[in-house]
Amino acid sequence: MDIEKEVATTIAKYGLLKKSDKVVVALSGGKDSTSVIYILKKMGYDVHGLLIDLHLGEWSKIHNANMIAFCEANDIPLTIVDLKKELGQGICFIKAVLKKQKNLTGCTVCGIIKRWILNKWAKKLGADKLVTGHNLDDEAQNVLMNFLKGNVLLGVNSSPATGGKEVVGFAQRVKPLFFCPESEIMKYAKSKKFDILYDKCPCAFGTYRVETREWMSHISDKEKLAIVENFQKLVPGLRKENVMELKTCKKCGEPSRSDICNFCKIVSNL
Ligand code: AMP
Ligand code: ZN
Repeated sequence: MDIEKEVATTIAKYGLLKKSDKVVVALSGGKDSTSVIYILKKMGYDVHGLLIDLHLGEWSKIHNANMIAFCEANDIPLTIVDLKKELGQGICFIKAVLKKQKNLTGCTVCGIIKRWILNKWAKKLGADKLVTGHNLDDEAQNVLMNFLKGNVLLGVNSSPATGGKEVVGFAQRVKPLFFCPESEIMKYAKSKKFDILYDKCPCAFGTYRVETREWMSHISDKEKLAIVENFQKLVPGLRKENVMELKTCKKCGEPSRSDICNFCKIVSNL
């Protein structure tokens, strides 16, 4: 697969980005976000890297150092947000407290916290769009996980361009790798010899997402694409029946589907 061509096609088909946009790219240090920022820069977009230092021991230190070197070499501005400065603690402590307080486990906590900080900082940086490195495998997992949870409606906002367009001062989240299989991105990143970590997050074990990913490793990229494309056909119908208005969180002022956003719900007693 020609990943660069696939990204260009997705951007054009869904109108993801304009050349005049300030594009903030959420950089985890992994192959997906590194590849997407590299491709967007090559295409001539005004990109800016945004990395959250989660304070996950050596893992975070190596990712930070890699992204500093990568952005310098590719002439990309980079902002590193320190989770300890934002929330007073690193991610492991936060996860331990939330497990004890609310029995919250898995990648959900990390996802909610990352999304809130990324939105806040994208806005601070004056971003028009916030790009993430979510790929076809992530999206196929989401479809299946929502289905198995018995709540297909959780995927009502699934799209290469997720919600937020309607909120003033809010950077719309976009996913140019939505239709790119992880295996192909891996090949691309390795062909470019990106000096990064190619491993999975050390925290992600025994979670529902990891179990789904393992199960899905037995199906082909073509089948993953069929899952995602077929679900995309259902999304407009789901949206018509289930309009989910975006409100403003009463506590923090960030966009939310309910009066209090998920972030404020989980971090209120940290
Ligand atoms: P993950 O949830 O780890 O699969 O990551 C999905 C996407 O979220 C990545 O491709 C990045 O765009 C973004 N992301 C994950 N972790 C971070 C981080 N520590 N800092 C900034 N962005 C991140
Ligand atoms: Zn909130």
